[in-house]
Amino acid sequence: MGYIIACDFDGTVTATDTIVAIIKKFAPIEGRPITDQILRQEISIQHGVTELFRLLPSEKKEDIIQFALEEVKLRPGFQKLLDEAQTLNIPFYIISGGMHFFIDPILEKFNGIKQVFANTVDFSGDYMEVIWNHPCDNLCTGDCGTCKPSIVRQLVDDNKVISIGDSITDLKLLGIADIAFTTSKLTQFAQEKGIAHHHFETFDDIKLSEVIK
Ligand SMILES: [Mg+2]
Ligand SMILES: [Zn+2]
Repeated sequence: MGYIIACDFDGTVTATDTIVAIIKKFAPIEGRPITDQILRQEISIQHGVTELFRLLPSEKKEDIIQFALEEVKLRPGFQKLLDEAQTLNIPFYIISGGMHFFIDPILEKFNGIKQVFANTVDFSGDYMEVIWNHPCDNLCTGDCGTCKPSIVRQLVDDNKVISIGDSITDLKLLGIADIAFTTSKLTQFAQEKGIAHHHFETFDDIKLSEVIK
């Protein structure tokens, strides 16, 4: 028996949420109320993010990739954590509610990610249409968009799950994790709900060898 790592992307690998940053930059006025509704959990993530991307003209694709590469700050220590996972033979998966078109260019410079699970976007119309590649399985009714527990159930076999995440979109992942690393809002949630967790600020705070047995 071993471990797998399921790591969020937005707000976790990146220091701030990439989708929020993109919407603030490219659709600030119309995007705001939708973003607020998602954060207050009044509408599902899938519904909200679909609506947010429908605000973005397809022709802005390259501008958004450039913006993501130039403006989005990364949380320090990520390559070191990937290296440690590789040394310990723990497969490292990125599981994201974001979109491959801006995630993949950001992750290109890192080595040791086994696979990235994210969504695609149809750019054939005037506005972007999200294609949700990883819907909820029959054990989840969350309308998650990217259903993180459903993906983990496909990957896990007999292994234990180490989760790394930052926000409400990682709550369900936290629920199925054997070992949870949390930051920002997710640390707060874990504290409120009395869920065991290890808080981190940078990836240097995550010492895999100290938590696995
Ligand atoms: Mg996140
Ligand atoms: Zn789900």
